[in-house]
Amino acid sequence: MPMTLDPCAKPGLIHPDEAIPLLLSQVSAIDDSEMVRLAEALDRVLAEDLASGLDLPPFDNSAMDGYAFRFDELNGQESGSFKLAGQAFAGHPFKGELPPGHCVRIMTGAPVPAACDTVQMQEQTQVQDDAILIQAPKGKGANVRRRGEELKAGTRVLTAGTRIRAAELGVIATIGISQLRVVRRPIVAFFSTGDELRPVGSELAPGQIYDSNRYSILGLLQKAGVEWLDLGVIPDDPEALRQAFRTAAAKADMVLTSGGVSVGEADYTKQILEQEGQIHFWKLAIKPGKPFAFGRIGKALFCGLPGNPVSSMVTFHKLVWPMLLKLQGQAQSQPLMLTAALSTAVRKQPGRVEYQRGILSRNAEGALEVALTGSQGSGMLTSMSLANCFILLDQYQGDLQVGETVMVEPFHGALA
Ligand code: AMP
Ligand code: MG
Repeated sequence: MPMTLDPCAKPGLIHPDEAIPLLLSQVSAIDDSEMVRLAEALDRVLAEDLASGLDLPPFDNSAMDGYAFRFDELNGQESGSFKLAGQAFAGHPFKGELPPGHCVRIMTGAPVPAACDTVQMQEQTQVQDDAILIQAPKGKGANVRRRGEELKAGTRVLTAGTRIRAAELGVIATIGISQLRVVRRPIVAFFSTGDELRPVGSELAPGQIYDSNRYSILGLLQKAGVEWLDLGVIPDDPEALRQAFRTAAAKADMVLTSGGVSVGEADYTKQILEQEGQIHFWKLAIKPGKPFAFGRIGKALFCGLPGNPVSSMVTFHKLVWPMLLKLQGQAQSQPLMLTAALSTAVRKQPGRVEYQRGILSRNAEGALEVALTGSQGSGMLTSMSLANCFILLDQYQGDLQVGETVMVEPFHGALA
């Protein structure tokens, strides 16, 4: 561990933007990969560049339903009359010779006969007995999608590290690839800690609550494309915790926990983790989500999220998500930030960066405005469910009035 990870080297709170590079410096991309069938590749990350073996499109084809003809046969006139020589449908090329003064009925996607160079859309033609009147053509080559105009055979189409979305599935199919090499999914072992937590489906005794973090974090991990190992709820008991950490670290690339990292509680976790691995307990200048633990247990990375339900989601989004991207060899992407006018007043004490939960919309004038979801307690998970964005308030910001401009980060990545 480099010295910079030692919170003692940085008195006070660590700004989350400073924490990210420190975290990322500890993460190396997984170098195992596996072959998957294209239909199973959604949300996986490409382990190698993909080049096209084909020109795209692979042949000159029509962009319209209409008539293919030789432009020069118009002899510079505004219109011309052509005899019909045959037809070309998608998948059924025109076969035969095209005598002078003839055209071919052609459909979208059908190969343009070699003798033709232009397609006139059907709506700008007239059928006259046994001839077709082509009127006001746009110019030579109109409505023809040329072979290789999108890309030439041999060109790299996708680079290693690309996450495969619906569009990439289609692009890969377009170049005829049925199996591809993707990065092995990172394995993330997760458990919740806390004597007060009960799994859903059981009865609550006085003082108990349901373990919700395991489900919100499960959702985030599934969206992040990782393989998840659910180790349940572990009570605040040193031996149970020790066992859970060992089991998790033996199987996972990353051990993720919630709870037990705040000042009052960290003692147990701290004591055990100091024996089992190398861990740093941070106080981040972020609200919600001040306490955060990071380090290594065996070969596994360890991230300890705070237990408060909103805090655990915010710290996952801000700190763990970039680590999961790096583990999978994906480039970091800067979130799309927008500015919007507040339609509710905001209370904020200077000191920490705040991720207040907002609802972003367009007002009647078409301008972006953002309202708070309501109370902003770090235990109020409904504030995340109501929100479609974070309202980002910087460390030194104080209260804000209705109408003031704020920065918003629409939910994206695992949160969307
Ligand atoms: P901790 O970080 O363990 O001190 O917990 C902070 C707050 O979050 C307490 O009110 C806990 O009851 C609550 N909490 C901790 N873990 C969970 C969880 N898995 N699901 C719901 N609430 C939790
Ligand atoms: Mg706890």
